[in-house]
Amino acid sequence: MSSLPRRAGLVVAVVAAAIALSLPAPRATAVVPEPTVRDGGQQSGAREGGHRTRARELARQLREREQSLMALNRRADARERALVGRKAVLATYGYTGDPDEVRAVLPLASYRVSAGFGLTGPLWEAEHGGQDFGASAGEQIVAVAAGEVTDVAFSGPYGLRTIVTLPDGTEIWYCHQTDASVYAGQYVDVADPVGTVGSTGNSTGPHLHLEVRPAGGAPVDPMDWLIAEGLTP
Ligand SMILES: [Zn+2]
Repeated sequence: MSSLPRRAGLVVAVVAAAIALSLPAPRATAVVPEPTVRDGGQQSGAREGGHRTRARELARQLREREQSLMALNRRADARERALVGRKAVLATYGYTGDPDEVRAVLPLASYRVSAGFGLTGPLWEAEHGGQDFGASAGEQIVAVAAGEVTDVAFSGPYGLRTIVTLPDGTEIWYCHQTDASVYAGQYVDVADPVGTVGSTGNSTGPHLHLEVRPAGGAPVDPMDWLIAEGLTP
């Protein structure tokens, strides 16, 4: 019996605390004189409603901005990843500068410099019109410069040959390929796959025979052309 009043007192105290917590805090605005307006009660209610609408609108705008910021970040990340990937690809083909400035790359990631331009001998009917790059059969050949694929065909001693014509009219010939991965009429960017190294046509082993023919005319030394483009073949 003696513990009941104490327990009841505790309950009263808890209830009193709960009521005190649930009471609205004194409003700071209460000390600010309200402007004298007719029908003040309705005006005040309308203003509070307006504040709530405005707060909701601001919250919505904030969410929208956060979402668009996140989208921008995602796009920037994707662009950064693409740029890093592009840089790595170009570096594989001998170009280490700004990807946005690239004009030319080497045709193969790894090769042995073989027969040079202008050689004469029993292997060639006339002067050797290109530069040979010894490489493993199946090695990826990439476009040394951007242009339009103007021919993909077997062409006698050149074997499977892809011709890419550059915007200035220079023809780049990729010869002796096993496979071509492009078709005539297609545009290729610099370092895009063209085909794979093979030994088709007049060839004694897998290699790329590269020719550079300004304006589609007589061939020039591909090494000179690559060096003029800032590369070190
Ligand atoms: Zn050759």
